[in-house]
Amino acid sequence: MPSTSFHHALKIDHDLCIGCANCKRVCPTEALRVKNGKAHLGAEFNKEKSPV
Ligand code: SF4
Repeated sequence: MPSTSFHHALKIDHDLCIGCANCKRVCPTEALRVKNGKAHLGAEFNKEKSPV
């Protein structure tokens, strides 16, 4: 059965990202962050900040 979930529907290629932040400005759910010149998904960004 095909999945109807869009979880992890976006993957950022950090080799191609130039950190312009256009994706952050237009994302309607504010799911993206730009850190150290590269875009990150909010979940990915929060994982990096996790003390674990
Ligand atoms: S910051 Fe966003 S829009 Fe700009 S290059 Fe990276 S992924 Fe693409």
